[in-house]
Amino acid sequence: MTVQQQGSVSTFRRLMRYSKPYRGGFILAILGMIGYAAIDVYFINEFETFIDRGITEKDQNYFFWAPIVVVLLFAIRGVFNFISSYCLSWAGTHIVKDLRQQLFRQMMRLPVSFHDKHSTGELISKITYDAEQIKQASSKALVVLIHEGAFVLGLLIVMFSKSWQLSAIFLLIAPLIAVIVSLVSKRFRLISNRMQGAMGDVTSSSEQMLNGHKVILSFGGQAIEDQRFSDINNRNRHLDVKLESTRAISVSLIQTIASCALAFVIYLASFPEMLETLTPGKFTAILTSMMLLLKPLKQLTTVNSDFQKGMAAAAAVFKVLDEQPEQDTGSTELNRVQGNIEVKGLNFRYPGHDKQVLQDINFSVKAGQTVALVGRSGSGKTTISSLLPRFYEVEDGEILIDGHNIRDCTLASLRKQIAVVSQQVVLFNDTIANNIAYGFEGELSRAQLELVAEKAHVLEFASQLPLGLDTEIGENGVTLSGGQRQRIAIARALLRQSPLLVLDEATSALDTESERKIQGALDELLKNRTNIVIAHRLSTIENADLILVMDQGRIVECGTHQSLLAQNGYYASLYKMQFGDPA
Ligand code: ADP
Ligand code: MG
Repeated sequence: MTVQQQGSVSTFRRLMRYSKPYRGGFILAILGMIGYAAIDVYFINEFETFIDRGITEKDQNYFFWAPIVVVLLFAIRGVFNFISSYCLSWAGTHIVKDLRQQLFRQMMRLPVSFHDKHSTGELISKITYDAEQIKQASSKALVVLIHEGAFVLGLLIVMFSKSWQLSAIFLLIAPLIAVIVSLVSKRFRLISNRMQGAMGDVTSSSEQMLNGHKVILSFGGQAIEDQRFSDINNRNRHLDVKLESTRAISVSLIQTIASCALAFVIYLASFPEMLETLTPGKFTAILTSMMLLLKPLKQLTTVNSDFQKGMAAAAAVFKVLDEQPEQDTGSTELNRVQGNIEVKGLNFRYPGHDKQVLQDINFSVKAGQTVALVGRSGSGKTTISSLLPRFYEVEDGEILIDGHNIRDCTLASLRKQIAVVSQQVVLFNDTIANNIAYGFEGELSRAQLELVAEKAHVLEFASQLPLGLDTEIGENGVTLSGGQRQRIAIARALLRQSPLLVLDEATSALDTESERKIQGALDELLKNRTNIVIAHRLSTIENADLILVMDQGRIVECGTHQSLLAQNGYYASLYKMQFGDPA
């Protein structure tokens, strides 16, 4: 067995575990398929009686019953067909649903570092395309294997019972077919693996175009995007054709081989000894069986490719399911903390990257204080703020909240302490009210909600809207301005009432006027908490209790606004650059 085959065997075993709860459905489907095939075989077998007794001997009794039996059997065949199709689809869709749900849940629970590495389009294609492929390909393989398999077996029995000499010739070609099948299936697996990747590329580049639509328009990037997509699109098409042509070649080859066998049978039948043992009915039944064998034999040869296709899709899905979810090994349940933060000897690299992003970071903030991080872009400010809620694991150094190492805390209780408002506001396709209340646990009265909306200056614009706070805002709040979206994010953070707040350049996407408007909302948010404020505008940080000046992952200066200006160092030069000489 090759490594690949072993791979698909273990993938198949694992898939079987998913089918366990729906075993009843599969068994019924298989019974239905066998019944269906059995009736077809019975018909072929009856050819002999029909010709020899009915037509040759002109048996009236036979002609009386035959039409009735035909209709009856076809009705039963229809029932079998329905049962097998229904049960198979019932069980198959259940498995797809389970896999999708599990993928969805898993992707949600995977650490930020996993999502850094994989594009959204690629992941979406796993939930949509790959999951569906598993069902399509595996059910097709099952149908062919059971239905066509039973049909082939039945036909062989019919043939052998009528004339084993003529039938034996047919079996001689079996090994030849087997060799071709194994050659073809290897190629199939290779191509379908690539095909899945290509499909992921199609989704992710479409997604990129849709997300960046405005940028593309304004930078006139249509031609470039068009070309990029055209390459990917064509690669996908190319693979599809390859898959189809491999299939076509193998089918034609197998049919040609089979036709040689058929020709040989006809030739053998012409020998006098043979002719003596054959009645017209027998010969018709054998010949019909052989002809009818070609199609299911062809399908049986591609069953492996369907199976491999399904297994390739399943393997891709399982790979995501096997990714290590976020480590939540801490056991300390943080109740509402006071908000003392202490960072000691913190060094950090992003997983899978060499660059040392943070070096020897030490600082502490007392409950209720505001610390401001300033520094050039890329100096590591956002990284510090992502380490606090443990979006990435700290390996070297420690972060303490109220004296608890955050690694020892449960993720849920840790994150409940922290509200993050950043430049990128994420809003859900829902009403303003529901967006503010997102993730809020417990009862929320309308008055409470309105109070928060008022404080965050959301009511200011919401009251102008026809449905007020109950206005739907579209996907990611497309109908709102940047400042309005930011105010909703602030309201959400206000409602959360977390003791720790991270403001990561919350206003940097806004123009001065909108910034002034939300300043009131921000001041409200900063009250009574420990705040980490990352700001690109120095004016917003003058009042901080502590300012950390960062450069290339290090804290190069720290102090208050006044003391840092007095030092006349890096901070002072940044300040001068923005406001001119303070003196
Ligand atoms: P700032 O917020 O001060 O602008 P960041 O903390 O975002 O800076 O980035 C600090 C450094 O870390 C940069 O050099 C950036 O390239 C790198 N970096 C940021 N995010 C990631 C990531 N997800 N994976 C790898 N490197 C990253
Ligand atoms: Mg940043």
